[in-house]
Amino acid sequence: MSKPDRMTNFITDRIDGDLKTGKYGGRVVTRFPPEPNGYLHIGHAKSICLNFGLAAQYGGRCHLRFDDTNPTTEDTEYVESIQRDIRWLGFDWGEHLYFASDYFERMYLFAEELIEKGLAYVDSQTLDEVRAGRGTVTEPGTASPYRERSVAENLRLFREMRAGEHPDGSLILRAKIDMSSPNMLMRDPLLYRVRHETHHRTGDDWCIYPMYDFAHCIEDAIEDCTHSICTLEFEINRELYDWVLDNISAPSRPEQIEFARLTLANTITSKRKLLKLVEDGHVSGWDDPRMPTVAGLRRRGVTPESIRAFCDMIGVAKANSLVDFEKFEFCVRSDLNERSPRAMAVLDPLPVEITTLERDESLTGPLWPPDFGRDAEREIPLTRHVVIEREDFAEEAPKGWRRLSPGGEVRLRHGYIVRCDEVLKDDSGAVVGLKCSHDPDSRTSGRKVRGTIQWVSAERGVNAEVRLFDRLFSVEKPGADREFLEDLNSESLVLRKAAMIEPWLADNAAAGQHYQFVRNGFFFVDDDSTEGALVFNRTVTLRDSWTKPEVPAPSRKRTKTKAPTPASAPSRTGERDRARSGDPELAAGLARISAIDGVSASDADYISGDRETLQFFDEACAAGGAPASVAKWLANEVSRYVDDSVSSLRFGARSIAALACLVDDGEISATAGKEVLARMAETGSDPGDIVEAEGLRLIADSGAIEELVDRVFADHELEASRLKEGEKRLLGFFVGAGMRASGGSADAGALRAAILARLG
Ligand code: ATP
Ligand code: MG
Repeated sequence: MSKPDRMTNFITDRIDGDLKTGKYGGRVVTRFPPEPNGYLHIGHAKSICLNFGLAAQYGGRCHLRFDDTNPTTEDTEYVESIQRDIRWLGFDWGEHLYFASDYFERMYLFAEELIEKGLAYVDSQTLDEVRAGRGTVTEPGTASPYRERSVAENLRLFREMRAGEHPDGSLILRAKIDMSSPNMLMRDPLLYRVRHETHHRTGDDWCIYPMYDFAHCIEDAIEDCTHSICTLEFEINRELYDWVLDNISAPSRPEQIEFARLTLANTITSKRKLLKLVEDGHVSGWDDPRMPTVAGLRRRGVTPESIRAFCDMIGVAKANSLVDFEKFEFCVRSDLNERSPRAMAVLDPLPVEITTLERDESLTGPLWPPDFGRDAEREIPLTRHVVIEREDFAEEAPKGWRRLSPGGEVRLRHGYIVRCDEVLKDDSGAVVGLKCSHDPDSRTSGRKVRGTIQWVSAERGVNAEVRLFDRLFSVEKPGADREFLEDLNSESLVLRKAAMIEPWLADNAAAGQHYQFVRNGFFFVDDDSTEGALVFNRTVTLRDSWTKPEVPAPSRKRTKTKAPTPASAPSRTGERDRARSGDPELAAGLARISAIDGVSASDADYISGDRETLQFFDEACAAGGAPASVAKWLANEVSRYVDDSVSSLRFGARSIAALACLVDDGEISATAGKEVLARMAETGSDPGDIVEAEGLRLIADSGAIEELVDRVFADHELEASRLKEGEKRLLGFFVGAGMRASGGSADAGALRAAILARLG
């Protein structure tokens, strides 16, 4: 994947400003300062992309600094995992690896400096007394009775604290600032406390440890950082950050900048809560593929490229917002699509005997879609016994069923058409197998049936375990209304231990590789795999299948019917050429249709490829459809539903004429038209009736459009502000969001114009 564009946001504006004024002598030094008390998660990834990204963009440097000032929760396991995760994400700190604990001695000396300046004192109150004396937002605090201790006494006590002469909780060092400051943090904050604990790096050298607000700014200053970027909740700490650095002989003077943290819907990014999931066994570990940790995402099969693309997409802002999980999945899918060879696996196998297959055959299938320009193929053995997906068979076929049913036919992908002759059942009446016969000519005859299903040879295929994951939490904001554990999605993991994969996969798949299993999603070979016993994780489904519990208010409740992929693969062109060379009527059809204004050569080629389609086209035009529109609908949309011939569609030429007219006359949008078509393919209903029943009539009324724009701007505040700041590539995103919010019934042109008008 190509490197994302140059970042532009309020932080780069600020850095550009500093570079212009020469504030830091042209230097840009950032840092990523994790506390080693947990694994990194997707929120940290945002911070990593930002800090390392800025350093790269400005030719500066980014430090990795472990903020290990708290001895109780930190561990070297975390130190190691954090380094591995950052490297995996694609970033490098070079020689700039630091530990805050290395600065303990210097921090201590800065504390003595504050004491000597009369700006810090040792307090003998208990922590509860300190808290009580701090006052409230509306009332000032009260001074500690120990606030006026002499410098000499403070120094003596502080040195005794260091020497281990005082137990935990007996004494603290506080800054002497202002007990009535409107900022509660400035009311004599804690700087040091006594903790007789063993630190993971300094061992028992220290029994006093500095507090975050004192330590963090000193760490930045020691390392010569220029821009100390942290999340928004630290905004009120900035005053203290500045106070400390302004009152010690700071080696340099960095500045703190806050940005909005990432909050991803249906997940949590609190290390404390993630640790709880691990410790209580709700997940298998920090790298459970359902975890939002970098380790979990990696194990699931998410690539660093997609995480970086996601961080780039969500951008950097000054206001917190909830990011849809779909956005993340969109980035994952786009990346995996390019790197995942296609193969077949059957997750829930139903045995099928092809009774007419006399001997085994060797078939082939492409590893990549035709438009990828990659030719690689794999061998697919066909044997008398195969398995198909249980859900691809229905004893009683519902209306519009395109898969297998008793007496029905279906094509085995890359193979023959088979007919189901017999259904085998056990004593309880459950279907345990099928007997089918195949049409031996159907690989070459070009005969078509409505459905194609994936399958695997039961004799040559190999068993594998497949793990299907869903959102770890069933609500957008886990823990918002109750204990977060109660929001866990009990169906977040589904195991398919009896899955069968095709031999090519069994021979080639190795840990760390990505595949697309036809129709089932993108999969990644898990580390649990052993020789001969592969385990696959589903990284992401092929399309968005998650239904949000609440339907966004105004859009109509409707189950979306997705169009299948187009059937008019380019390779069929040769077939059509051959048909025309043997049939003067088709050849004349090509000439005639190509001559129509607004019809593309490839559409004319498709329409004149066989007699049925040509006749369908002529009938639709005769029924009042504009030829250019009918041609587009037929070649680009209707073709998706044609497996055998147009004559097997559930609707006729008149309906397509009617559909084309509805769109051309502005009654419905083109997007809605596609949905209507999907319904027609399913039910055979009249397009006009579908439009009425589904309420798809076009919204072009300016009031309604304005409302729609209000809504999508409100739903995506962050993106809206970026759009308004000139990030034009988000225009398409908003038009799309508006179309979705209107259930596809908005006039896209009017919507786009209304959005542009808002930008002034
Ligand atoms: P927790 O709140 O779970 O303890 P943390 O923020 O304290 O997490 P740190 O290890 O201190 O975790 O974080 C390291 C850096 O990552 C900090 O600069 C922090 O601001 C940033 N960060 C943490 N969570 C997020 C998030 N959700 N989005 C963006 N940045 C984050
Ligand atoms: Mg922290």
